[in-house]
Amino acid sequence: MKGISLLEGKYAVTMDPYPQQSKEFNRIHPFYENLRQKRFTTTRCRSCGWRSFPPRVICPECLSTELEWVDLPVRGRVLVVTEEETGVPAGFDPPLIHALIDLDGQLTYFGRVINCATGELKEGDEVKLAVFRVEPVPVDAKKGAVILQERVFFAFEKVK
Ligand SMILES: [Zn+2]
Repeated sequence: MKGISLLEGKYAVTMDPYPQQSKEFNRIHPFYENLRQKRFTTTRCRSCGWRSFPPRVICPECLSTELEWVDLPVRGRVLVVTEEETGVPAGFDPPLIHALIDLDGQLTYFGRVINCATGELKEGDEVKLAVFRVEPVPVDAKKGAVILQERVFFAFEKVK
């Protein structure tokens, strides 16, 4: 387990680059459950219709808590590319490629593009959602047991 081995078997939440994803720890846990099914989702307000990304538990426009989950496009087009070759966060290998992505006119998303070499990604390229497993996280289970909870996260990758 690469990430945890940084800490010699001890888990420190402040060193964890990925969120806890279970319903006990995360109120937007459906986002991760949807990701596992290769769906990219967010919340929309049932009162005023406002759609946010990232997902919310309270509408930032009208403060309603009546939100519903809606799908976002899983394919988009690159608007701008940035490449981070030095000073990347602990646990990541350079280069980190980031892009501003137009998701079919519905959302402009800035995020990571994986499986991509330096100089490979260009403006106008088509990218698609990529869901991958990240370090499981130890959580307390019943009767004092500790279980490793599987986690996923997402990025985008070039459509080849
Ligand atoms: Zn609202």
